[in-house]
Amino acid sequence: MKNLTIPNKDPISFYDAIANAKHDPRKTRLKTLQPQIISRYADYKNNLTCLGKITQATYSIEEFQDLQHCYDSSTVPLNELKSHIRSIQSPISRAICPHCGINNPRTFDHHLPESIFPDFSVLSWNLIPMCDECNNTKLDKTSEANIETPVLNLYFDTLPDSERWLYAQINISAGLPEATFTLQQTPTIDPSIFNRIKHHYTTLNLFNRYADRSVEVFSEAASKASSGLTPQEFKTAITTCARSYEKRHGLNYWKVATLDAMANSTDYIESALETHSNQ
Ligand SMILES: [Zn+2]
Repeated sequence: MKNLTIPNKDPISFYDAIANAKHDPRKTRLKTLQPQIISRYADYKNNLTCLGKITQATYSIEEFQDLQHCYDSSTVPLNELKSHIRSIQSPISRAICPHCGINNPRTFDHHLPESIFPDFSVLSWNLIPMCDECNNTKLDKTSEANIETPVLNLYFDTLPDSERWLYAQINISAGLPEATFTLQQTPTIDPSIFNRIKHHYTTLNLFNRYADRSVEVFSEAASKASSGLTPQEFKTAITTCARSYEKRHGLNYWKVATLDAMANSTDYIESALETHSNQ
C-alpha cells in the first residue's frame, strides 16, 4: 500500500471540458448543474480526511444518469483526466496497484462510489488508480451501509509507512511452505489510521490474496537454494532480496513480509535446502 501523488489540476476545468464534449440536450443539462458541482467539489475538499462524512446529494434520475455518463462514456477530456492522474505517479505506482501491490493498476476506483455519488464521477481526487481485482472486490462490498468507512484514500490518508504493520508467518504443510499474513499495531501508529488500514486489508481480501501469491516468492527463493548454499548463506540471500524489495516498495510490501518470515523460519530454511538436495 502506497500513498499517491495528489492530482493538482483544477478539477472543475475537467468537468467543464467533459460537459462540453457531450451532445445536447445532455451538454446543456450538465452545464446547468455546474454551480452545484462546484459546491459539491468544495464539500469534498473540506472533508478530505473524513470523506465518509459526505452525504448524498439529490438529483433527478436524468441528472443522475448525466453525471454518471461523464465517466461511463469515453471522451477526449476524460482520457486527458485519466492521463493526468497516471502521469504524475511514480513509475512503481504506475506499474503496480498501490492498494494491493500485486497487479497492474489498469482501472480507476471511485473512492466514493459512482453509484451513490455520481457528482464525483469525474472528480480527480475521487479517482484512484487501482487494479481490476481490487476494484471488483471493493465493488462487491460497496453498499450505502458501509460508505462511512471507505477503504483508505491513498491521496489523502497519510500512511505511517516508516512503521511496519504487515507480517507473515510460514508453516510447512506436507513438505510445502505456506504463508499467512497478519497486521500488528505499534504504539506509535495512531489507532484510528491502524483501524482504517485493517479495514482496507479486509475489504480488499488482501490476506488471502497474498497467501495465494506467496507461491511466487517461494519459487523465486527456491532458485536461490539451488547452488549448494549453507543455511546461513541461504538466509542471507533471502534477507538481501527482502531489503531490495523494501527499498523499492516500502516496509509493508507483501513480498518483504513473506521473505522476512522465510528468513526467520528455521523450518522453512531446512525444508527448502533439503527439498533441493533431494532433487
Ligand atoms: Zn490491486
